[in-house]
Amino acid sequence: MGRLSGRVALVTGAGRGIGAATAKRLAEEGARVTLADLDLEGCERVAQEITKLELPDAALSEDGKLRALALKCDVSTSQSVQETVDRTLETFGRLDILVNNAGILRDNLLFKMSDDDWDQVVNVHLRGAFLCARAAQKPMVEQKYGRIISLSSTSALGNRGQANYSAVKAGLQGLTRTLAIELGPFGITANAVAPGFIDTDMTRATAKRLGLTPEAFQAGVSQHIPLRRVGQPSEVASVIAFLASDDASYVSGQVIYIAGGPVGVLN
Ligand code: NAP
Repeated sequence: MGRLSGRVALVTGAGRGIGAATAKRLAEEGARVTLADLDLEGCERVAQEITKLELPDAALSEDGKLRALALKCDVSTSQSVQETVDRTLETFGRLDILVNNAGILRDNLLFKMSDDDWDQVVNVHLRGAFLCARAAQKPMVEQKYGRIISLSSTSALGNRGQANYSAVKAGLQGLTRTLAIELGPFGITANAVAPGFIDTDMTRATAKRLGLTPEAFQAGVSQHIPLRRVGQPSEVASVIAFLASDDASYVSGQVIYIAGGPVGVLN
């Protein structure tokens, strides 16, 4: 029996990167998973990989086959989010774990940051997490069980060129604490993980924007990380899986930094 056998998870932004690694990890631990992303093809690819995993029988749905459902979803749109939650309930019958992972970057120094740069980042990260949590809490409250895990970031503490991103990642910490307070009486926990530098398309795109190869960018960043290396998506997924499991049954309203060292310390 996997640690998440019988559980159903919804992971946003699951088409690649941390979301894909998280969906796979939750499935490996026995959960059935809805993968929701703007990028449907990415989700279908990850869903196929999950379907091929050797999993405990309890991870199978009623038809004995479906372990992963790939859906196109825009987390910033109320209707799209509701449809995603409805399809998850129709397919798997319940919803136990929500991972608010979908994200974008629109970095720029404040004086060059456009209204659009601000609005898009707020809409995907903050509005998206709000819409998903609001839609997911309904079945979770009925079940008297739920786990909501949101992706914050070390940028929540402030980062040059990221006024928009830093604000939403700090906002997600406030949202997390408030969800923990409001939903705790219904057996629902809410926590956040705050990664530092993780090797994904998101950070590779930043390297490109700065005119660096991903390897050169990572080597430079690594010098300031106590563990002297950047993180991998699987190293975030494993912490999310812990928070999603009953091993974390009394942990709520917390932010766990996953940054290869204490945050804000340069070594
Ligand atoms: P990523 O590789 O860029 O993947 C993000 C995924 O989210 C993409 O598949 C993207 O789809 C999807 N997405 C974007 N907007 C969406 C929307 N409106 N609705 C649904 N899906 C949407 O990013 P990542 O590095 O894995 O990051 C995942 C999360 O971790 C983000 O919240 C990020 O802020 C956070 N994080 C990352 C790092 C890091 O170092 N990588 C550090 C701290 C926190 P498209 O491809 O179609 O845009």
